[in-house]
Formats: sequence, structure tokens, C-alpha cells
Amino acid sequence: MVHSPPAAPTPMMAQYLALKAEAADCLLFYRMGDFFELFFDDAKAAAATLDIALTSRGEHDGAPIPMCGVPVHSAEAYLARLIRAGHRVAIAEQTETPAEAKARGSKALVARAIVRYVTAGTLTEDALLDARTDNMLVALAQVGPDYGLAAADISNGRFETMTLTPAQLGAELARLRPSEVVMPSGLAIDTGYAAYPFDRAAFDSLRAEALLKRHYAVATLDGFGSFSRAELAAMGGLLAYLDHAGKGTLPFLAIPVRRSTDAHMAIDAATRESLEIVQTMAGHRAGSLLAAVDRTVTGPGARLLAADLSAPLLDRQDIDARLALVAWLHGDSGLRGALRGALRALPDIGRALGRIAMGRGSPRDLGQLRDGLGEARLLRERLGALSDRPALLDALLPTLDGHGELVDRLTRALVPSPPTESGGGGYIADGYDAALDELRRMAGDGRRAIAALEARYREQTGIASLKIRHNAVLGYHVEVSAKHGDALMREGSGFTHRQTLAGVVRFNSVDLHEQASRVAQAGGHALAAEAAHLEELIESALARRRAIDATARALARLDVAAALAERAAEGGWCRPDFADGRCLDITGGRHPVVEDALTRQGQAFVANDCRLSDGDRLWLVTGPNMGGKSTFLRQNALIVILAQSGSFVPAASARISLVDRLFSRVGASDNLARGRSTFMVEMVETAAILAQATERSFVILDEVGRGTSTYDGLALAWAVVEAVHEVNRCRCLFATHYHELTRLAEKLDALSLHHVRAREWKGDLVLLHELAQGPADRSYGLAVARLAGLPPAVLARAKDVLARLEAGKAKTGGIAAGLDDLPLFAVSAARETPPADPLREALSVLDIDTLSPRAALDMLYRLKALI
Ligand code: ADP
Repeated sequence: MVHSPPAAPTPMMAQYLALKAEAADCLLFYRMGDFFELFFDDAKAAAATLDIALTSRGEHDGAPIPMCGVPVHSAEAYLARLIRAGHRVAIAEQTETPAEAKARGSKALVARAIVRYVTAGTLTEDALLDARTDNMLVALAQVGPDYGLAAADISNGRFETMTLTPAQLGAELARLRPSEVVMPSGLAIDTGYAAYPFDRAAFDSLRAEALLKRHYAVATLDGFGSFSRAELAAMGGLLAYLDHAGKGTLPFLAIPVRRSTDAHMAIDAATRESLEIVQTMAGHRAGSLLAAVDRTVTGPGARLLAADLSAPLLDRQDIDARLALVAWLHGDSGLRGALRGALRALPDIGRALGRIAMGRGSPRDLGQLRDGLGEARLLRERLGALSDRPALLDALLPTLDGHGELVDRLTRALVPSPPTESGGGGYIADGYDAALDELRRMAGDGRRAIAALEARYREQTGIASLKIRHNAVLGYHVEVSAKHGDALMREGSGFTHRQTLAGVVRFNSVDLHEQASRVAQAGGHALAAEAAHLEELIESALARRRAIDATARALARLDVAAALAERAAEGGWCRPDFADGRCLDITGGRHPVVEDALTRQGQAFVANDCRLSDGDRLWLVTGPNMGGKSTFLRQNALIVILAQSGSFVPAASARISLVDRLFSRVGASDNLARGRSTFMVEMVETAAILAQATERSFVILDEVGRGTSTYDGLALAWAVVEAVHEVNRCRCLFATHYHELTRLAEKLDALSLHHVRAREWKGDLVLLHELAQGPADRSYGLAVARLAGLPPAVLARAKDVLARLEAGKAKTGGIAAGLDDLPLFAVSAARETPPADPLREALSVLDIDTLSPRAALDMLYRLKALI
């Protein structure tokens, strides 16, 4: 048998392969007419993810080419699914018409080019985004020992940057929850995300600075704040990546906000997860603190609330400013209702602006700006007329207005509800442009003339079913059923035959042609005129984009404040007070999520007090399983988060000394559901607390030590409590089932004992979920087991075993024997590790080869400062 050499690829395949080579790590959407086609492995991957048919087309290297396709008009939905499944997509569009290709001398193949990359962090389409969740893209860079982080949500322009130590990175990423992370190729940072390696050179801080200046059209960045080299590098990398993804079209980005890690409460990834702040451990919004609090009525409000709860503040004035606004709206339900009503009707102007800036703005987006900005102006008038306005409101009010000229123009220019597609025209209002009105009148006259023509032809031919129709191929034409065809075919009828189909015959006529040309010409001119207006309107909107962005943010802030006031009114929440020292004084505190769940089941939540203070910093909470220990611990942590986010709290009263870092750890066996219930994780996480908690921190430890044997566990729990008390000296709630720990109360002066109450009543255990002073008198383990339905025979046997054990314990002193004689934990022991030498550390991680001369100079300054 003779093998023929593989045929050269067809011109189309050659073009496809060249484009594919440009986007090797993406699925290539190759535009063919009304479809995006995928070939080869892309087709297989997409067909599997999208559950669509895999076919084949032609051959390549002697084998059929796998192919699948999605219609262009519904491509968004398919894109969404591919992105969610972790793919990146490159969109190759036709960049010329077949006629242009022909004129160029290319026989059949139109030119195509990649016009855009679609990735999880670079989406702007409404359909692909969740209205109530930020969609963050994060870029990381390293300069010397520092990490630079830049984060942007390009759908609305939110843009922030910060400098981090490697140890802080995890917590910040957990706060931002990025959809996509990019970093310089070759940089090895473990982010826990599938980071995308991008052109190293783009993260050069000098190049980045130049790029930023160009983007913001400023001669110096000083006006925005002073950025570190690491921040510049990260922002530059982010901008360059967006430029690459948009193929040269950069999205709108607000002026970058420089965040300092100490501007908000430090909450590490494990704590966020365990407290279920914005999502539950299973990854759902329902069941989280956010879901229990969120009463916002707009997408931007919901996104801001999530960001607020993710980053509680540390500045008392800032917190009080937010609280004062909430309190003002809390005190006036009529005003609150009216404000929320007005906000509810608002379009998401931030995202509309984002699409417009990306060159994907539609007439509808402009309509949203018109409505949103117009409503904002009314709000300003109404709110500005009220007395006793809180300072934050006064600061927000001016940003709600100032768009009068733009709003007036959009109002005059646009029809009431403009379409999402601009291609069909019809979005510019009558009366805006006399020339356009004239064109429309002419087209309208033509259409009316055609209608008149139809009536005339019916009369003239006597064919009542004669119709004038329009389609894309023939344009306007006369149509009669086949049986009447001959009558019109006749010479001198005035009709020219165009087409015969199964049931109908189609004709043209001189008059019809004339009117049709008139319609087409005027219509074409009208469309062009509308398009020109659209462009102008978009430009005038973009000229005001920073001010529009400020308005959008002010509206979101109002929504959050009104929502928190609403939530507080609904739940009888109180405004927290702040105090110096180390107090956490909560009267009648409740857990908002557990309370909601109980209320739905028609049960009442038992409110509990927490009174931590300088002299009573550590509460050891004992009591039966299911008694409410975890709930109590968490509710206090959540109250702290709410308070410092600027929210009222679920309590009768709350006095709180600001918390700089919050830690929550749950003993390993409680974490089985997470699938990594190793004792190791528990200990690593506990180690982090001991290393990081300061006197201003708040720590909740829930059954720490129970992931190992009884003796080990008790020993570790004992040592951890001592260290927290003696070394960290932070506020701490420690829940444990080790009764032996209660002996610590005698030794540690700022530790006190508490328990959740339970009672046995007629042999049944009643859990009261009520916190009381002192240690639990017993563990009720068997009673809980009975409650859980353990068979009576097993229970009886357990009782026997317990009796034996207790008899033994009485003789030997049991597990706690000897504990009372233990000398007090030596503080010095905990600080044994030699003090770190920051200069040596900085030098040892320095990668000299990657330093630019400028960075080297900066580094020298920094090193000098460390001496
Ligand atoms: P523990 O940590 O002591 O095992 P949990 O805090 O997990 O107990 O609480 C167990 C269950 O008890 C919760 O799911 C909730 O239904 C109920 N519960 C807890 N605290 C309260 C409370 N204060 N009021 C009413 N029910 C509560």
C-alpha cells in the first residue's frame, strides 16, 4: 500500500492553526458566520463541558477534525459555563467582510484575529456575572522581600493595591476571594489558587509606573498616594494583563486605593472559613453571616456589604461615621423605607459604566446611566433637605450630583427604554436631531407608500391575497400564491418575476423598487446618524467616568447603611459602643444565623452575655455537647465583625474595645466535613494564633486538642490556655470538654469558668443553652448519647464502664493526677526563640539578579532603616 504524504492544511485550517498557536492555553472560539466553532482538542473539551454534540469537519493529517460550535447569539451562556469549569477562552472574530476579502484578493477566506480573551477575572457581561458578588482579578508581584498585590473588579472599576509580607498573603486572598490570580512567570508563590503565569517583564516596577501614568494620563502618580515598588509592579502587571486580555482595550479602573494591611482587622483564611462570614464552609452564600445580614436592595450595595464584612475597620472615627448614618436611618423608618424604595429602582450604573469603558456599551447602558444618575440627583435633593444629617451623609451628598448636563443630554437623546443591541437603531429619541427625524420621516413615508402600493396592486390585479413582503435576500417584493402567478407573469403586467417557490411566486415592480430604495437609503442614513450619536454620547459619559464612579459608590454606601438599619430594626439590634482597654461586654448577645434558623423552626434563641475585660480576659466554657458552646463563641466573634464593619449588632447592648486581629479555631474532629481533619492542621492553625495574637486581639478556640488522644489533647489544651493567658494576653473564649482544665482557674488570675446549663429532668437531658458562672458539674456525656438515640443496652453497659472508671479515678487521681502540682507556665519559655534579625532575614531572601538599579537603591534605603 502506498501512503500519500499528508495533504497541506486548507487555507482555513492554516489560519485556524496560526490563531490557535497565539492562544495555546485557551479554547479558541473561531467565528464562522453565525457560529463560533471549536476544533481538535478544544472541541472535545468544550463538547464535554457544554454537553453539546461533537461532530467533525474535513481532515487534518489524514484524520477527521473534531468540531463543535455554539451560536453567536447565545455564546454568552456557553462562555459562562466554560469559564466556570476553569477554561480560558480566546475569541477570534472575522475582521473583514467577504466583499472586503475579495477586494483584497483573498478568494474565500476572510481575515480573522483574536479580539479578546475571556477569563474568570476579565468578565464584564451582565449575564456572566453575579450581580451581588464582586469579581476580583488579582495580580501579585515580588520586589525584594515584599509582595505587591493589586486587585481589580473590572466590571465596576474597583481597584486597590497593597504591600504584604509573605505571611499576610493568605489572609488577603481569603478576603478578596479572587476569581483569577496572575503573577510573573517563574515566580513561585503558593497562593492556593491556580495562578496564571504572565509575562515577567510586565511586572517591572519602572515599566509599570510608566504604564500607570499613561493610563491615568498624569505626569506623576504622587497625586494618588505614594506606592511601594511592589505595589507598582503588581498594578503594572495587572494593567498589562488586562491590556492583553482586551487586546488593547483597557477597562475603566478607578484611581487605585492604597490599602494598608493595618487599616482593617486581620482575619486569616482559616478564621474566615470557620466563621462563615461571606460563605459557608460548603461554599454557599445561604447560611453565612452575610446572608443573615444582607437586606440591600441593589447589586452594588450587596457587593459593598460583602466587602465591608470581609474587612472590618480599625479606625474608631470611620466606624462611628458609618454607625451614625445607620443610626440616623434606623431612627426614621419612613425615611428608610422611602430611600430603599428609591434605591431598589436603581440600575447598576457602576457595571454599565464598566461595559461602556470596555467598548461594549449598549444604548441600554446609557439609558441606565441616565436613569441612575437622574435618580441620584433627586435623592440628593431629598436627603439634602433633611435636618440633622450625619457627617458621612454630608460627605456623600455632593457626589450624588453634578451630572446634570449629561443626564439632560441623555434624556433628550434616548428613547425611554433603549435596546441592548445598537444594530437595529431606534434608540435615539425623536426630536433630538432634526436631520435624523427627517431621515426617519422619509423612511416612514416610503414604508407607508409601500403599504399603499399593496392596496393598489390588490385592486389592480383583483388578487385579494397579494402581499408585499420583505426579506433579507430579495428586499421588498410582491408575493402571490402559485395559482395567481401566471396573471402577474403576463407581459405588460408591470411586474418582473423574481422567484418561484413551492407555493408562492414573487415579483418586483418599478414603483416598489423606487419606494424600497427610498426606505433603504433613508433607513441606512438614519442608522448611521444614530450610531454617530451613540458614539458621542458614550464619549461624553466617559469624560465623566470618575465622577460617575463616585456616584455609584455613594449610592452603594447609602444602600448598605439603609440595609443595616433595616436589619437592625427587624432583629432588635443595638448600636455598639467602643471603649479603651480590653473589653468585650455584650449583654443579651445572639448568633444571627443560628437565631434565624431557630426562628424558622418556631424556636426561640436564648440570648447570652459575654463580659471579657482587662482583669477577666479568658473564659473557659464547659458543658455538654450540643449545649451551645460553639454558638456562644461564634456569636461574639460575629458581633465584633459586625460592629467594626459599622453595623448594629444582635444584642441588647455592646461595648467593645477595638479588635486588631480575630482568630477562630475549631478542634480537628469538628472539621471532619472539610475532609482534612488532621490533627496537624489543628496544631498549625493554633501555632499561628500563638505567634500572632496581640493584646488587642480576640481569639475563640473551640475544643482545641480534641483531635488527638485524651492525654495529649488535655496536655496541649492546658499549655495553649496558659500561653494565651500569659503570653498573648488577648481576649479569648475557650470551649472545652476537658473538665480538668477548670483547675487552671486557681492559677490564672484573668481566667474565669463558665458553663452552658443543662438539666436532667425525669431521666431526660434538657439543654438550656444558657451560660452560667462556674464549671459544669458533670459532662452529661451519657445523657447526650441517650438523647441521640443510642440503644438502651449500650447505654446501660456504658454506665457500668463509667462507674468502674470513676472508682479508679478516685483511687489514683485519674487523668488529672498531679496537675495541681504543676508549676506555672513560664513566660520566658514561650519567648525562647532567638529574636529574629530583620536585616539578616531581608538580606537572605534578596534576589539580586532580579533587582533593577532603582529597586536596588530603594532596597539599600530599606536595609539601612533596619539597623
Ligand atoms: P456545642 O458547641 O456545645 O456542642 P452548639 O453551639 O453546636 O453546641 O449548639 C448546638 C445546637 O444547639 C445548635 O445547633 C442550636 O440549634 C442550639 N443552640 C445553641 N445555642 C443556642 C441558644 N443560645 N439558644 C437556642 N438554641 C441554641
